[in-house]
Amino acid sequence: MSETIIVGARIWDAGGAAPFDGDVLVEGNIVRAVSRSSGQIPQAGRQVIDAKGMFLMPGLVEGHAHLSFESVTSTEDLISPPPEEHTLLTARVAKCLLDHGFTSAYGASEAKLRLGVAVRNEVDAGRLSGPRIRAGSLEITVTGGLGDESKLHNPRNPPALVVDGVDEMRKAVRLCCREGCDNIKLDVSGDPFYPNIPAHATTMSLEEVRMAVDTAHGLGRKVNAHARSIGSIQNCLHAGVDVLYHCEYTDEKTLDMLEAAKDRIYVAPSISLFHTMLHEASPWVTPDVARAMGIDKLLEESRKTHTELRKRGIRHLIGGDYGFAWSKNGTNARDLQFFIDYYGYTATEALRCATRNGGALMTAGNGAKLGEVKEGYLADLLLVDGDPLADVSVLVNADRLALLMKDGQVYKNALPAAGSPAAARTQKARVAGVRG
Ligand SMILES: [Zn+2]
Repeated sequence: MSETIIVGARIWDAGGAAPFDGDVLVEGNIVRAVSRSSGQIPQAGRQVIDAKGMFLMPGLVEGHAHLSFESVTSTEDLISPPPEEHTLLTARVAKCLLDHGFTSAYGASEAKLRLGVAVRNEVDAGRLSGPRIRAGSLEITVTGGLGDESKLHNPRNPPALVVDGVDEMRKAVRLCCREGCDNIKLDVSGDPFYPNIPAHATTMSLEEVRMAVDTAHGLGRKVNAHARSIGSIQNCLHAGVDVLYHCEYTDEKTLDMLEAAKDRIYVAPSISLFHTMLHEASPWVTPDVARAMGIDKLLEESRKTHTELRKRGIRHLIGGDYGFAWSKNGTNARDLQFFIDYYGYTATEALRCATRNGGALMTAGNGAKLGEVKEGYLADLLLVDGDPLADVSVLVNADRLALLMKDGQVYKNALPAAGSPAAARTQKARVAGVRG
């Protein structure tokens, strides 16, 4: 079994402790020991990585991944690519996420049923570079719901399975499970992109959501829901949905219901899409168009709801809906700053959403532990040239990720070779930078 020691890093373990200097021993794919002073773990016979001056932390987890979205500007970009090209696109995005420090991607949904499944299988087999993937399904929606853009006179092929009633729902969920999806995605509310079904509308019935959850859980899968309206959030909570996305509209009763379920559910606000639509999406979406769609009001609702949910101890996930032309996959760590600016998180708490919360979700129910730098945890680790606790934006820049380890394997090592003059110079500068 391969044994690697990462020596002398400033370690942030995501478990609540203040950062400390020490060494980390990785055996196979597991963190075997973490020492709080350097030199305690014998180095003989082990690969040694000199990480003095570097910040060591768990790999990031994208909580709402769309691996099959690359510079999307309209629904057409999800429908038109043939499956062959779309699979290659999905593989590219998976690699892009890993290159940017995301060692895990919890799949929200994909544009075609098996895109996430195929790429997950290739990554797991070691034939493609990518994060750990829980493959999202095709979205499941209802007639007239999110994704169903057909008209009677003009039927369209939706990037979704359109079902009505519990029998059709049962069949759709079983189909997604048969084809290998890990996470089933339900569109339970409306959306500002669809004037007929605004974000505060509830499109999927409690009975349909309940059937989806019971069927998916029976087959050992998780259920994610697009839920912006009060009614949709309540339907999801009554039915036992695992991961709730967006959740802009709430009232006191809904907040209480979310809080009561906080040890069971995870919530990803997916703030970046609306923030960038309002401020950075020209020429595809101008600020005027975004305001006409009500995006500014939804952002305000999101701020209110998720600030309150933070105070109530909800397990938030970062990430969400990256993959548009104006919020590209690869920039997903921007969510850390959005969590600070919109929801009042500290850098440390935002980073815990990105690591500890996401890791717990990725491994929930499978016996493994992920998302912290602790003995017995899976070895997904980043060495950062900078201090994310002082400035979370360093994590957006892939060049600042000096070392990337996934499942105990070094995927990227841009540390200067030990003993070189460059190493000595960089190390001196880094020590000054991290401590300063
Ligand atoms: Zn999404």
